[in-house]
Amino acid sequence: MVCDCCGRKKKLFESFAAVKYKQTQMNFCVDCNDLAYKVRDDVNEQNNDNYEKHLKEWQQRAKKPSDIFLAWQQEFLAQLEKSLKKEES
Ligand SMILES: [Zn+2]
Repeated sequence: MVCDCCGRKKKLFESFAAVKYKQTQMNFCVDCNDLAYKVRDDVNEQNNDNYEKHLKEWQQRAKKPSDIFLAWQQEFLAQLEKSLKKEES
């Protein structure tokens, strides 16, 4: 099993997070899963700075994203961006 985000192979005794998407299921390693949660939490907290920071980290992590991951991430981020209040500048 490999992570749908970074492409890393699952190590023995390591647990990957299963994420259901449409008719399929993705698997995230702990690090990628953590970042996805952080990005979502940042939006919930309306923390723009952290959101940008974690999003960048996440995109840098996604070295070998699967097609399904890219489709999912696009939807996931589109949803988040809707609830993120951008500061007027
Ligand atoms: Zn990963």
